[in-house]
Amino acid sequence: MPELYDVAVVGRGLIGSAAARHLAESGIKVVAVGPDEPTDRRVSLGPFCSHPDEGRITRVAGRTPIWSQMAARSIRRYADISERSGIDFHRGCGLVTSSPKADEWIENSEIAGGNARSVDRQWVVDQTGISLDNGHPVLYEGAPAGYINPRRLVEAQNKLAAAAGAVIVKEAASSLTHTNTGHTVAGTWGSVSAQRVLVTTGAFGSELLECSLDLRRMPRTTVTAEMPFNEELPSLICVDPPDERLDDIYWVPPVRYRNGRVALKIGGSLRNSSPVPQTALTEWFQGDGDPIEAEALKSSLMSLLPNAQIDSWVQKPCVVTNTATEHPYIGWVEDGVAVAIGGCGSAAKSSDELGRLASTLFTSDGWNDSLPANAFEPIFS
Ligand SMILES: Cc1cc2nc3c(=O)[nH]c(=O)nc-3n(C[C@H](O)[C@H](O)[C@H](O)COP(=O)(O)OP(=O)(O)OC[C@H]3O[C@@H](n4cnc5c(N)ncnc54)[C@H](O)[C@@H]3O)c2cc1C
Repeated sequence: MPELYDVAVVGRGLIGSAAARHLAESGIKVVAVGPDEPTDRRVSLGPFCSHPDEGRITRVAGRTPIWSQMAARSIRRYADISERSGIDFHRGCGLVTSSPKADEWIENSEIAGGNARSVDRQWVVDQTGISLDNGHPVLYEGAPAGYINPRRLVEAQNKLAAAAGAVIVKEAASSLTHTNTGHTVAGTWGSVSAQRVLVTTGAFGSELLECSLDLRRMPRTTVTAEMPFNEELPSLICVDPPDERLDDIYWVPPVRYRNGRVALKIGGSLRNSSPVPQTALTEWFQGDGDPIEAEALKSSLMSLLPNAQIDSWVQKPCVVTNTATEHPYIGWVEDGVAVAIGGCGSAAKSSDELGRLASTLFTSDGWNDSLPANAFEPIFS
């Protein structure tokens, strides 16, 4: 008889690896199925992930009170994850946000115990050298706001999940079938059986579900600008940035990439961009992203940091998976199958809490939290 796990988590990205850790550490017999990131994205047939990077902004100030609380809960556990895994992934360099909704974000931060406060543009120039000119109110959030390294967080979560007894299968699943005893998750590598399944496959994996979720996979291009480390520079989010082709931009200050290059990463969203159909995702990930978006990001960076000395530029494609509700979907979608999916471009920092919330679906009490389950209810298309 093959082993029957309590739960199979499909997808070992930011949310899946967190869920696997929480499940395993609460004594549930778990198997986590998902490939490592592709070694060469230009020839890989996927699935791809949205975390193959060295920086993701972390902050408590957020667009809803729920996002702020999820971030605050996650941030409070960073040190524990880091200490127990021996893997550092967080730097509290602070965050500047310039947005028409800055006051709302500050309120949400206060609800969640964050330290975001209102500042003016002159303060930002004096303290950071960032030259904001969009007329929107500005907030500053000090440490622990800053950035995390998403690759290292995934590594830490997987290490702790395995230490707590989770079995890790570094392969993609191509089918999920219901059986007499539960479910079988299978691929070209073989199969595993589990009573119940949590699908956390990000932009991919819809073929595993019988239902169709209302997810919009938005193509995004990021640019890295090679420049020296700058201890004074915080993370940034800016709505209506200098280049009018963009709705908003964000950056993570210079960090060292795996090839030794030190670079600031800037990304954002082009005005009126459309979703990529799931069938076109692989081709998108194999390419160079959108040249117009890349140009708009470069020009915004040079306006915002007029004194920056940039030695080289590199651009790359990525995908943000949006939901219909602005919150990720966490809930049951089929008999014995739940999802934790749809990071809405904001889930990296909060992934530990998203994984924990998803893990509670599999406990005898089920969802039992001050955050309402209906805010996360999956919407079908
Ligand atoms: C350019 C960019 C910048 C971002 N910046 C920020 C930021 O600054 N701050 C922030 O908080 N968030 C940010 N985000 C969002 C954040 O990275 C995502 O919300 C997060 O990665 C979502 O986690 P996930 O686990 O759902 O998806 P992923 O991290 O993509 O993980 C999904 C996993 O599922 C696996 N998978 C897919 N199909 C299968 C299959 N069939 N079988 C098995 N496994 C499968 C994939 O290999 C992958 O590892 C950004 C996203 C992008 C793209």
